[in-house]
Amino acid sequence: MFALAIHGGAGTIARASLTPDAEREYRAALEAALTTGYDLLRNGAAALDAVEAAVRSLEDCPLFNAGRGAVFTHDGHHEMDAALMNGHNRLAGAVTGVRQVQNPIRAARLVMEKTEHVLLGYPGADELAREYGLPLQPAEYFFTQKRFDQLQEAIASGKMQLDHAADPNWKKGTVGAVARDQYGHLAAATSTGGMTNKRYSRIGDTPIVGAGTWADERCAISCTGNGEYFIRAVAAYDVACLMEYKGLSLEEAARIVVQDKLAPVGGEGGLIAVDAAGNVTLPFNSEGMYRASRVEGGEALVAIYKE
Ligand code: ASP
Repeated sequence: MFALAIHGGAGTIARASLTPDAEREYRAALEAALTTGYDLLRNGAAALDAVEAAVRSLEDCPLFNAGRGAVFTHDGHHEMDAALMNGHNRLAGAVTGVRQVQNPIRAARLVMEKTEHVLLGYPGADELAREYGLPLQPAEYFFTQKRFDQLQEAIASGKMQLDHAADPNWKKGTVGAVARDQYGHLAAATSTGGMTNKRYSRIGDTPIVGAGTWADERCAISCTGNGEYFIRAVAAYDVACLMEYKGLSLEEAARIVVQDKLAPVGGEGGLIAVDAAGNVTLPFNSEGMYRASRVEGGEALVAIYKE
């Protein structure tokens, strides 16, 4: 039994805020990423390869706040974070503050496989990508007028702006994927541009193993939401802990973290999770979360709002 789930960010995604055309575009992008990962799993690929491929597909899509569509920092740059983790051997790799690498998730994998480190940041991480021949892009590749306008608004408001804002023009969409492959192995991957108007060098939960991304032999988790809250809650790892120490099901453990722990303190967002039996759960406490999942032999689910 293999299974895959992906997300494209959680937040205030009101039905009224998306035109039918925009909704179609988001759904198509989610479906394409899901199919990429699902087909790999069906053909016997490892969970790690499937989550990386699904995230790459979302990073290349300008609709989502990761890779190509990354949001701007306060000083008008892009600083992207990404992490992936392999459950059965607990290997992990992450990058933070990369500015040039086209697919930060590929750089995270390089950290895992080609260095002795887990988390590499800033020019050193872009340098590693260059060393191994990953495609790099100039700043213009990551430039979108809409994102730039969002930054000006955020600067005017004097606040760091979650990409989960009520204004429909604010793009939403840290991206992530979790999978269970045919061999029972689990993996998780997450990639983001962070938050609009974030201070330069700010690091969110995404590249912090245990906060925004986690995988072990029990479950694989990828989070999206207000990163500072997810860091303090050690959100992704807490799902694994609740399963291990309290014997809870994946669904119950994930629900407790998202609804009972994060929501009351203002930690808006959600997560996607899969367990060793191929169960999938996609809880969120925000108005919506771009999400999709498919379990072996089943239908693909693609959803945005609370349904
Ligand atoms: N968690 C991400 C961060 O705080 C943002 C997001 O999920 O949209 O960097």
